[in-house]
Amino acid sequence: MTFVRVALDVPLPRLFDYRADDASLADVGCRVVVPFGSGSKLGVVVGVTDATEQPVDKLRAIEAVLRDMPPLPADWLALCEFCSRYYQHPLGQVMSFALPPMLRRGKLPRARKHKVASAVSLPTLPTALPEQQAAVAAIASAHGFESFLLHGVTGSGKTEVYLRAIDAVLAAGKQALMLVPEIALTPQLEQRVSERFPGAHIVSAHSGIADAARARGFLAALDGSADIVLGTRLSVFMPLPRLGLIVVDEEHDASFKQQEGLRYSARDVAVFRAKQLDIPIVLGSATPALETFHHALSGRYRLLELNRRAVAEAPPAVRTVDTRKEKLQDGMSAALIEALAVRLERREQSLVFLNRRGYAPVLACPACGWVSRCRRCAANMVVHLTDKRLRCHHCGLEAGIPKACPDCGNQDIHPFGRGTQRLEAALSERFPEARILRIDRDSASTPTKWQALLAAIHAGEADLLIGTQMLAKGHDFPRLTLVGVVGADAALFAADFRAPERLFAQLMQGGGRSGRHDLPGEVLIQTEYPAHPLYRALVEHDYNAFARSQLDERQMAGFPPFSYQALLRAEAKDMSASLEFLGAACDAALPLAGDAVALYDPVPMRMARLKNLDRAQLLVESASRPALQSFLAEWNGLLHKLKAPRDLRWHLDVDPLEY
Ligand code: ADP
Ligand code: ZN
Ligand code: ZN
Repeated sequence: MTFVRVALDVPLPRLFDYRADDASLADVGCRVVVPFGSGSKLGVVVGVTDATEQPVDKLRAIEAVLRDMPPLPADWLALCEFCSRYYQHPLGQVMSFALPPMLRRGKLPRARKHKVASAVSLPTLPTALPEQQAAVAAIASAHGFESFLLHGVTGSGKTEVYLRAIDAVLAAGKQALMLVPEIALTPQLEQRVSERFPGAHIVSAHSGIADAARARGFLAALDGSADIVLGTRLSVFMPLPRLGLIVVDEEHDASFKQQEGLRYSARDVAVFRAKQLDIPIVLGSATPALETFHHALSGRYRLLELNRRAVAEAPPAVRTVDTRKEKLQDGMSAALIEALAVRLERREQSLVFLNRRGYAPVLACPACGWVSRCRRCAANMVVHLTDKRLRCHHCGLEAGIPKACPDCGNQDIHPFGRGTQRLEAALSERFPEARILRIDRDSASTPTKWQALLAAIHAGEADLLIGTQMLAKGHDFPRLTLVGVVGADAALFAADFRAPERLFAQLMQGGGRSGRHDLPGEVLIQTEYPAHPLYRALVEHDYNAFARSQLDERQMAGFPPFSYQALLRAEAKDMSASLEFLGAACDAALPLAGDAVALYDPVPMRMARLKNLDRAQLLVESASRPALQSFLAEWNGLLHKLKAPRDLRWHLDVDPLEY
C-alpha cells in the first residue's frame, strides 16, 4: 500500500500520513486536499512511502490531488524544511506562509499574458568606475556558492554593481533574485531595473501586491518564465528553477527579520539558499550588520569595497553640535536653524531627522504626576495633535485628549517631549514661507500616500522635510544637501546591546541622503555627548573603526556574533502564568542543555505588557550553533507537551533581534 506524508498548516511539529489509493497520482511537491478532523485541508506532499508509523486501519485517504500547477520543486521543499528545522516552526506552516494566499487556498489566478516592454531601446550605461568594475568581476568569477559583502558608502553605486551582476546572470540564461527591505523602495528600483532590462520578465513580490498578481508572479517564477524577482523578505521563498544569483540590498536592515509567525531572517535564509543551490550571493550595505561584517573579517564572506561616491565629489561633512552649551529653541540649536535658513535661501532641500512620530511622547500633569499611560500596555499614549488624539503606538488604542487631568482635575496639563508633529509646527512658525513635508508612519500611512510624498519630494515640491527613520533608507533625493539630526542621544544608552549598531546605521544612512549628486552635503548632529565614540566615528566616516570596536565589546560580553541565541517567549493574562510556564520550560531544558548551552532565568520582557497580555522571556545561548540547534529541536518537542493555561501563547525566536 502507498502512503503520502503531508505537511498541513496546523501548529503542531509533525506531518500527517494518508492513504494514496492511486499512487501514480500523488507526487512529492503536489498540493493535495485531505480530510482533517471533521473538515478538509489543503497540504503539500513531502513524501511518498510504503511504510507508516500510524495504524493503517485508522488512516484516511487523500481526497484530491491538485494538478493545476507544476509540483513544487525539491529545492523549494528543502528550503522550507530547512526553515522549519532552523526556526523550530511546523513545516506545514512554513509552506503555507511561503505560498501566496491564493495558491494556499487551492485557487488559481486567471491567466494573463505577460507584457514584454515593446520599446527595446537599450539604455546607455554609465561607465563603471574602477571599484565597481572590480566588484562586478569578482562576483562574475565566483564558481558556485560564494558570499560577497559589497560594502559601499551611500551613493557609491552599489545598485549599478547589482545590475551588472544580474545582467551577466541573465545573459547566461539564469534567473536573479533581488531582495530589498521595504516596499517603499521597490517602485524606484523597479523602474530602474525595468529600464535596464527592457526585454526581461520582472516579477515584483511584496505584501502590497494584490492576491492574484502575487499568485501569478509565483507561478511565473515556478515555471521559469520570470527572469528577475524583485521583492521584500517574503520573496526569498519564490521557487526559481534557474536561479543563478541572489542580491540582498541594505542587508543590515531589521525588516529582513520577520517578528511574528515564522520568525525568519530573509538575509540568512538567502545565504542558506545560495549555498543549497551552489550560487553566489551579494549582500550589500553602507553599514553592514555586525554579523555580516564579522564574516567578512574572518574571510567567510568576500569583502568588496566601494569607498567613493559615484557622482558626488566627497561624502557629506558631518559635524556634531554640542547642545550642552546653549538654550535650544523648539529643540533646535542656532547652528541648525541657521543651516536650514541657508538651504532655504539657496533653494536646496533639507531634512530634519527625528525618530519619534506624533506631537509629543506623553501628556502629563505637573500637579499630581499623572501621565497618559496605555491601559493595555506598559507604554505611554502618544499625543497626536493633528487629529487631537492620544494613541498607543504599540497596540493602537486611542482616546481623546482630556481637557483636564483625569486624576486631579488640574486644567494645566502639557505634552512633554517632542515628536515629528511638534517639530513640524515649530518649523512652520519659524519658516512660514517654506514648503514643509512631514514623513512618518502617520503621514505615509498607506503605500499610496507614501508614493505621493516621495513623488512630491522628487518633484522638488518641498523645501524642508521632517522624517523618521522611514526616510533614512535608500532614497536618492538630488537636491537634498542638509540633514539635521535631533533627539538621537537616547539611543546611546539604551539597554539593548544592538542599539548602538542601529543608531550608527540610521545616522550614517540618514546622513547619506544628503549631497548625493553635484551639490555638497552636510550633516549636523545635535548631541550632549559630542565626544562619544559613535559620533566620532560618524564624523570620521569610519564604519570600520566603529564596527571593530563594537565587535570587540561583543566578544568580551559574549554577545552575537560570538554566541548564538534563541528566546522562548510566553504571554498570558497575568505575569505569574507566563513566568510559571517559562520556569517549567527551563526545568524541562536542564537535562538537555549540557555544557554547551546556557539557560538564563525567565524574566518579564522589557515591554512587559502589550495588548493586555503579560509577556516574559527565557534566553538560551551557546557558542556553538549546532549545539544550540540540536538542543532547540529536542526542547521544542517537549514544549509542545508542556501543560499551559488555555490563554497562554508561546513561541521560539531563533537569532532574535528584539529582546
Ligand atoms: P548606492 O546604492 O550605493 O547608494 P546608487 O547605485 O544609487 O548608490 O548610485 C548613486 C548615484 O550614482 C545614482 O544616481 C547612480 O545613477 C549614480 N552612478 C552609479 N554608478 C555610476 C557610474 N559608474 N557612473 C556615473 N554615475 C553612476
Ligand atoms: Zn493631575
Ligand atoms: Zn497600548
